[in-house]
Amino acid sequence: GQKASATSGARNPVSYEDIGGLKPQLQRIREMIELPLRHPELFERLGIDAPKGVLMRGPPGCGKTLIARTIADEAEANFFAVSGPEVIHKFYGESEAHLRKIFEEASAKGPSIIFLDEIDAIAPRREGTLGEVEKRVVAQLLALMDGLSQRRNVIVIAATNLPNMIDPALRRPGRFDREIEIPIPDRDGRLEILEIHSRGMPLAEDVSMRHLADVTHGFVGADLQGLCREAAMLCLRRLMPELDLTLGTVPYERLATLEIRMGDFLA
Ligand code: ATP
Repeated sequence: GQKASATSGARNPVSYEDIGGLKPQLQRIREMIELPLRHPELFERLGIDAPKGVLMRGPPGCGKTLIARTIADEAEANFFAVSGPEVIHKFYGESEAHLRKIFEEASAKGPSIIFLDEIDAIAPRREGTLGEVEKRVVAQLLALMDGLSQRRNVIVIAATNLPNMIDPALRRPGRFDREIEIPIPDRDGRLEILEIHSRGMPLAEDVSMRHLADVTHGFVGADLQGLCREAAMLCLRRLMPELDLTLGTVPYERLATLEIRMGDFLA
């Protein structure tokens, strides 16, 4: 299970502090996922079923993957990332076996979160032009979801930016029966995201994150992260002529004077 193996530990842990905006969404997701993973007994005692599947929908780059990883880290759950297109294409002919293996491993190592990114690639509407193979993969996924009922320690989070393309059978009770919209950030969301991604950066004194948030209408989280990174690279590029790369050393006193000027970038 190359990509399917638990990935926690192999990367920097993420926390809720790393997610900008999305406060109400995070609150709901924590109730739906973190709470039942941490305290299944609460749900049993109250006689309510913890969700088995949650569907996150929204445009690319707004934090769906980031949220799924964060919830896994915060809930101290194992994280299994599965890419829909990969299941179908890379594992062509073995897609069902691959899915079964992931679900088995996640159950054995619970509590676990299985993150199914771009689920529309795995489970498009069946009435269309789907071939037999694809139909079987959808059926397998549904069977695996149904099989989770006895085990409370696995929650499947699916993500899509094409919610209308997925097989309606996936959204029936007991499957992906909770949905959360992860929207494009508004001005306040952009400000929070900019602050997160410029944390630890030596910003020039006159950089106004508020102004940047004002003028970046339509930027999603991934864009804002890119903007911060590019501004830093620009600063590096300015420094290049002063560096003697053959020496392999950076003048440290010069490092102390570096300033990132975000504004240049949008001018
Ligand atoms: P896709 O549908 O393309 O998978 P996605 O919604 O899963 O998109 P992510 O992969 O989570 O988006 O976002 C890409 C990167 O953009 C994240 O790793 C993160 O660095 C940054 N990012 C996105 N949204 C946010 C956010 N709300 N707060 C902070 N960073 C964000």
